[in-house]
Amino acid sequence: MKDAAQGPVIQRVRHELKRRELTVAAVEPLGPGFVAITFTGDELGDFVSASFDDHVKLMFDESAETPVRRDYTPRRFDREQRTLTLEFALHGHGAASEWARSAQAGQRLTVGGPRGSFVVPLALDWHLLVGDTTALPAISRRLEELPAGARAVVVAMADAADRRDLPTQADAEIIWVDNADALVAALQAWTPPAGQGVAWGGGEAQAMARVRRILDEKGVPRELTRVSAYWKRGVADHHETLE
Ligand SMILES: Cc1cc2nc3c(=O)[nH]c(=O)nc-3n(C[C@H](O)[C@H](O)[C@H](O)COP(=O)(O)OP(=O)(O)OC[C@H]3O[C@@H](n4cnc5c(N)ncnc54)[C@H](O)[C@@H]3O)c2cc1C
Repeated sequence: MKDAAQGPVIQRVRHELKRRELTVAAVEPLGPGFVAITFTGDELGDFVSASFDDHVKLMFDESAETPVRRDYTPRRFDREQRTLTLEFALHGHGAASEWARSAQAGQRLTVGGPRGSFVVPLALDWHLLVGDTTALPAISRRLEELPAGARAVVVAMADAADRRDLPTQADAEIIWVDNADALVAALQAWTPPAGQGVAWGGGEAQAMARVRRILDEKGVPRELTRVSAYWKRGVADHHETLE
């Protein structure tokens, strides 16, 4: 991604691809539809996650003919403690969601990656973060990383019971919405501030396609946006970057 005047704003970084055998250390429900799972393992000694929108690949049932693999955001990583925390949105059915719903300390899981990172600088004039529950881990992490004085607008879709504090030092406006139509309406009411900022979105494919269109209509340069379908209704394991 390139900004003609100043070179790339969003930097792509590659990491050595590794698989790690990790052990569940703690399971913490965050609400009726969400659980945080902390993994531990010496193999985390060289784990790297350079960006809030990184993902690791969870590998279930690796011995099966068709192994099941799903993407999750490294929500928190502590190298000293060798712990990695992921947050799972629990939904109707799905291998990862079901695994997380019944996870217990001591269970093992193979975790691959991150393979690379798209690093978005902190020192921008504004930050827009839009997403559903699957993007809440990335959005929460980004808000924690943003320094005092940074300006952020968040449009987050979640059931009332799954909304939570999103701690940040930034000057952040948090808009919670109930559904995709309300998410789109909130985004339509948003005006890109002056200066250089980055618009980031993650969530269900159809909603993110609408987000992509609105950002285009509002004239946010594509090289300053990153919008991804994190899942697609009726499709297992869907991941698509909406360039
Ligand atoms: C880069 C990236 C990072 C991600 N980070 C996270 C994260 O940190 N936390 C997180 O919870 N998710 C995250 N996701 C989304 C997660 O990978 C998907 O939701 C995944 O499909 C869940 O796998 P599953 O096995 O539970 O369901 P699947 O087997 O993939 O899907 C089964 C069915 O459930 C539906 N479905 C899938 N996800 C949802 C959902 N959230 N709500 C309702 N229906 C759903 C599918 O449409 C399908 O019909 C991320 C995705 C990507 C691409």
